[in-house]
This record gives sequence, structure tokens and C-alpha cells, in this order.
Amino acid sequence: MKAVVFSEQGSTEVLQYTDVPKPTLDANEVLVKVEACAVNYLDIHARRNRPEIEAKLRRSDTAHILGSDIAGTIAEIGGAARGVAVADRVVLAPCIPCGVCSDCHSGAENLCDTQELIGFQTNGGYAEYVKAPAVNAIQIPETLSFVNAAAMPIAYLTAWHMLTTRAQLCPGEDVLILGVGGGVGSAGLQIAKLSGARVFATASSDEKLARATKMGADVTINYKDTDFSEIVLDGTDGRGVDVVLEHVGAATWEQSIASLAKNGRLVSCGVTTGNIGEINIRKLYQKQITIMGSALGTVPELRTLVKLAGQGKLEPIIDRTLPLERAHEAHLLLENRKNFGKVVLVNA
Ligand SMILES: [Zn+2]
Repeated sequence: MKAVVFSEQGSTEVLQYTDVPKPTLDANEVLVKVEACAVNYLDIHARRNRPEIEAKLRRSDTAHILGSDIAGTIAEIGGAARGVAVADRVVLAPCIPCGVCSDCHSGAENLCDTQELIGFQTNGGYAEYVKAPAVNAIQIPETLSFVNAAAMPIAYLTAWHMLTTRAQLCPGEDVLILGVGGGVGSAGLQIAKLSGARVFATASSDEKLARATKMGADVTINYKDTDFSEIVLDGTDGRGVDVVLEHVGAATWEQSIASLAKNGRLVSCGVTTGNIGEINIRKLYQKQITIMGSALGTVPELRTLVKLAGQGKLEPIIDRTLPLERAHEAHLLLENRKNFGKVVLVNA
């Protein structure tokens, strides 16, 4: 089969479109013919320098295949796989949990210490075919295209788990979404509007903010020009927002905390600008602030998201589709932050 692979880490030039053997199935697995695979920023880190990928390349004599957000059709089924049929249209839940630890048994498979991410610890969807446990294959309705389905798992699961499960955002509340032009940010905006919240959104360009306004953002803030917490406080009569969706880290941490109302909740899923942030502990307790972490999401949450997308209540933002062999161009678009929404690779 055709695949985009790399056998050493580096620039986009390490990505090669070539022939590799089709995956062979274990009894509990399915083979999926990949129709669409969305590109994530994690793919760029994996290609450049993530140590987990370096270790995988060192212990294996085969090249690595990226791609964690995958939609396609079931092509083959392992002997012990249940609940799936050949030709089913599916999206793959991106994580493969161990299934036997206490976190997995409690339904919090996103906290499993030994879970593997498809396309990271295992080979992924930058290929004609990918294999995965049958339990990861979630059927998608006819109303949901492969491209839109592939755009959902990581970004929408992350944003849904943050806003709905962790922060428990309620109708009528105010929420601040950082980096609304990115995958998690634009998913967060849609989920927050669906939840009946008023949305403050930040981005680095007026063009991205204009698109956010079209998607329903109530107040937009260009963070390059200003301290966004001042605009948030102005827009809430000095009160602050109930929830902050934070995925930037060190660069925005203090402004994010300063944007919170009394009883406000800050939920964080990422640190693209650095791991360490300070907090004024006196303000934390006086304002009864809650700071919480969030890590991807669960299969039941993905099923809910697929259902909502099938009903047209959530619509992933697609920047563009590119044929699989142009994966390197997709990486350059993300590296240079030229995209608004998802770049999705498709098989011809
Ligand atoms: Zn587990």
C-alpha cells in the first residue's frame, strides 16, 4: 500500500510517499481503508523531535507512519472482533488504552498510564490502510463526511472534555477561548455556543477573529495588540469570565488567571509556550478559583460528538484537503500557522 513514512526525524523533507506492506491484523483488530486523515500539530513535533518517536524508530527497522485522526471504511475484520462489519463507515477513537487498569475500568481511559495514541506509539493514518482495535471503530452517520469526521477526534474530544466534562460550562455563563484559530480553539467555540455560553475569543490576526465572529464569537480580542484580560474585564463589567479554555501555557497564564470571575474555572490542556506559570495564591482562595487539567477524552464522548456532527449541530472547520502524497505541504501550513481549521489528507 502507499503511505507517507519517515525513518529519521527532521524537516518536512524526511517525509516520503512510498510503498509499504499492508498491516496484518490481530484477532481483536480491524483494517480500515483510510479515506481521510487530519493533520495535528503533534504530528509536527513527532516528525521533528519527540523522543517517543525516536525510540520507536531505533527499536524497529520499519519507518514510522503518522496520523491520529482517521476516518474510513472497514476493509477486514479480525477473528475475534465484534460489533463491526466490512464496509462500515467509521471514525477511529485515537487512543488505545490498556483496558485492564483501574482507570480503564472506571471509564477514564484517557487517564490510562499505558495507553497508546494511534499514529504516535503505533502506525497511523498517513496511509491507504491502518489497523486498530475493533472497539476503536465508531460508526458515523451518512450525513457526516469522512473529511469532517477525520477533523473531529483530537480537537473536538479535547475541547468537549475541557468545557463540558471538566469545567461543566452552563448556559448563560461567559467563557474565554484562547487561540480560536486552532483546532481546539475553533472546536471550543462551537461547543461553547452549543452550550449556550457567551464567548470571548482571542487570536493573533484580525482575519482569524473575523472568522470567529462569523462562527458566533461574541467578543473577539487580538492578543498581539493588548493584555486580553483587560478586554475581558471591560466586557464583563469588571467581573471576569466563568471559564477559561487555556492551551497556550506560560505566555498567557497570568492573563488567563486575571480574566477569571469569582468561582471561575480555568481548564488547561496544553503548554505550547512553556510549562511553568505563577499564581497569586491569595487571589486563588479569595476568588475561589478552580484550576483543572484535562487530557483528551473518552470513547463515549466521541460518540456524542459524532452524533452532534451528524445532526449538523457541530461542523468542523476545514482549512483545506490535500492528497496524501502532499503531506509535507500540510506540515508546512501548520508550522507556519497559515491554516484556519483542519488540514485533512485524503486518499484519491
Ligand atoms: Zn488502562
